[in-house]
Order: sequence, then structure tokens, then C-alpha cells
Amino acid sequence: MNELWEEALKGLREKLSAENFETWLAPVQFAGIENDAVCLRIPNRFYADWISTHYLDLVLDALRAQAGTGPLKVQWIVDEGLQERVQARRSSPPPAPPPAQPQQRPPSVAPVVDAPRSSHGLNPKYTFDNFVVGPSNQLAHAAAVAAASGKGKRCNPLFIYGGVGLGKTHLVNAVGHRVLEAKQDARVLYLSAERFTNEFIWSLQNHRINEFRERYRNACDVLLMDDVQFLAGREQTQEEFFHTFNALYHADRQIVVTSDVYPQQIREMEERLVSRFQWGLVADIQAPELDTRIAILKTKAQEEGIALSDDVALFLAQVVKSNVRELEGTLLRLAVKAELMRRPIDLDFARETLRAVLPAPDHATSVEDIQRAVCEYFNIRLADLKSHRRHRAVAYPRMVAMYLCRQRLGTSYPELGDRFGGKDHTTVISAVRKIGGLVEEDAAVRNAVEAIERKLGL
Ligand code: ADP
Ligand code: MG
Repeated sequence: MNELWEEALKGLREKLSAENFETWLAPVQFAGIENDAVCLRIPNRFYADWISTHYLDLVLDALRAQAGTGPLKVQWIVDEGLQERVQARRSSPPPAPPPAQPQQRPPSVAPVVDAPRSSHGLNPKYTFDNFVVGPSNQLAHAAAVAAASGKGKRCNPLFIYGGVGLGKTHLVNAVGHRVLEAKQDARVLYLSAERFTNEFIWSLQNHRINEFRERYRNACDVLLMDDVQFLAGREQTQEEFFHTFNALYHADRQIVVTSDVYPQQIREMEERLVSRFQWGLVADIQAPELDTRIAILKTKAQEEGIALSDDVALFLAQVVKSNVRELEGTLLRLAVKAELMRRPIDLDFARETLRAVLPAPDHATSVEDIQRAVCEYFNIRLADLKSHRRHRAVAYPRMVAMYLCRQRLGTSYPELGDRFGGKDHTTVISAVRKIGGLVEEDAAVRNAVEAIERKLGL
């Protein structure tokens, strides 16, 4: 049985990035199979949540592939002993150990049972309630709400596109939940284009194509098709999907499709499908702005019961920019590590942890780069930046530059004093504090800092 898990792990290792594999799956231990549930031991509760949300299908597929048929759900067992072993393995070189805790902890073995995915295929975690709306996703969100209400004729089909990890899957799942809230017996089907393809091929091979068509063309009120770009180049599946689309559309059934690019940019997609995708509404999702990133972090922290202070939220949101999945992943990893090391999640801890995890673009940037970028942005001369002039037109850019150097490069205060034309280190400290405060309170300052960071590719 253990072998089964080992083999499944091998398969999973190929599918995940090394870092995600090491963080989330390597520490998991197999603890047998009970009825139709595979029991897995995890170091703490975060693993159950994270793996369920992001890797459950992969894990179950891997297990099924090994076992032939097999378990349909996972039972999580939180094992604090495991937590200590993981910590021991990870902490080389060892971090300062927490003060000894002499009292023996009783072994806490709390099973957490995972709800099996229901027949509509929706992920229970992705609802409108926990979707943070900001300028970057406002349109897509509003369109999704309208599509879910059944009233938005103009939103049929709804085509949502955007880069990886920006919330497309979350939004389409939310549509499904909303529809079911209003009408419990609505026939909602959520699936990826990949799954559609696989089921289609399987049905052809096993002479079950009529059942397949019945399911998708007739027995469906709302079709939520994720990652349609997967159909690129798959002519026969596209043809099938074309007819599915037509059948549903003409019966006034809601269709929501997501893709990583705009309809016309999907490679090798039949023109008639591309044009149908644009019959209704095409809405994009962009990478979220700083405020939205902060709000997402706070929502996620609250959901997961993670104590996240404002300054750490700001720091994470400043460091991880492109992708919400990565943002969440970073927060969760931080929480896992803090729990393992029994440390609070403060700014020092966050910095320390992220230094190792993130590919630090900081190293490529120097104090001079930052000074130059700041001068360009504020249109002042480098000589002024390093001068002792106190006029706001120079003093403010100077403080911003000091702040960025400290925040991004971690340069010491005395050294920064030197590099800015021989200022006292206390001057640098107060500048960094001042801008740090303003970044949180004043949108104009925050925008300036962000613009300069963007310029620097930070
Ligand atoms: P995509 O399908 O676009 O690749 P996902 O929908 O899988 O992205 O989103 C990745 C992760 O980010 C999910 O855990 C999702 O819950 C979260 N997420 C993305 N956008 C938001 C948002 N606006 N509010 C809350 N969580 C979000
Ligand atoms: Mg997705």
C-alpha cells in the first residue's frame, strides 16, 4: 500500500514545480485506506486546505492511476509528530530553536474529512463571497454575477480571459454556486476543456457517445467550461464542442468559458467557435493592483485563521505581484513555516522566509539603479538627490529613494547615509519610517513607489 503512495508521488513530482512538491506533498505520509477514503497524514491543518484546493484532483488521479480504480476521497489526519520531523528536515542550518516547551503535548490526531466533489464538479471553496473585487477584475466579476442570475442575456456566452492564477477558475465556480443557491436542482456542469476532451475520447472508444451528448447537450442548464484554450488543435473535440455550444445556446442555457487569452488569440481554434465566443460578453481579468492584493491576502488569512498584520500584508503584496495563486501560496507557506517553527509572522520573519523562496530580482538592482530611477521619475538631478537641500521637491524623492533601497536591498542605514551624500544614519531611518507610513496611508505616495518599482522591474 505504501508503494502505491510512493508511485503516485513519483507521478506527482513530475507535474508540480519542485518547490511546490517539496512544500506540499513531500511531507505527506500515507496511512492506509479505509472504505473509499485514502488516509493521509499531514503536519498541520494548512496542508488539508491547500492540497484540497489545488492538488486534490491530481492526487486522486495519481492514486487511481496506481490502484486501477480506487478511493474517491481523502481523509486527512493532522499529526503533530510529523510536524516536528518536517521541521527537523527543513531546518538545516537549524534556526534559533524556540524556547523549550517542557510540557508534553498529547499526540493530536484529528481526522479532517474532505467532502467529495459533487456531481457538478464545483470546487466548494470558490464562491463570490470570498472573491475580492478590484479594478482588475471588476468587469469579469459583474458579468459573472449577471450570468449567474440568469437574467443577463447579453452575458451569454460569457467569455472570461486572463493570465494564470488571476481568478478565472474561481469566478466560474462562483457562478455555479450562485446558480445552485437560487435553484437547488439546476443542472450545473463545471469542467475543464481537458476533461471534456478526455471524456469525449473515452465515450467514442467505448461506444457511449450518445450518453456523452445527452449529458452535455440536453441534461445541462449551465455549462462552465474552464481553460478552453486546451482545445487548440484538437479538431474533432472542437467540432463536438461546437455542437454542444449550439445546442445549449439555442436552448437558452447559460455558457461560461474561460481561456488564458482573448478568443482570437487562441491558437488553432476553428473560426466559427472563435466567433461564437464573442456573441455574448468578453471580459478580461488583469493582474490585481496593490490594494486588491492586500485585500486578497487579508481575506485569505481570515479564511485560514492566519494572524496577518498590516505591515506583513503590505510587504507580501509588494513582493508578489503578478499572480494571485502565487500570492496565496506565499502566504500559506509563510503560515506553515511559522507554525512549524513556532514563530509569529512578523516582518522580519516574512523577509527572511521570502529571501530564500523568491527568485530575488533585488540582487540585480543596486542603490545607484534606484537612485537613477527615482531621479527619472521625479525629474530631478542625481546631484540634487545627494545634496543637503531640504526643499520638498528634492527632499521627498530622496526619502523615497532611501526607503526603496532599504526595503528592496536591505542596505544598512549608515551605508545608505554615505551613498546619499554623507547623511547621518538617523536621517535615513526617519526617512524610511516616514515613507513606510505614507505608503500605507497615502495612495499618491504608494503609486509613486509602485511606479518606480515597476520601472526597475521589481
Ligand atoms: P486561474 O483559473 O485564472 O488560473 P484561479 O481561479 O485558480 O486562477 O485562482 C488562483 C487562486 O487565486 C485561487 O485560489 C483563487 O481563489 C485565488 N484568487 C484569484 N483571484 C482572487 C480574488 N479576486 N479574490 C480572492 N481570491 C482570488
Ligand atoms: Mg484556472
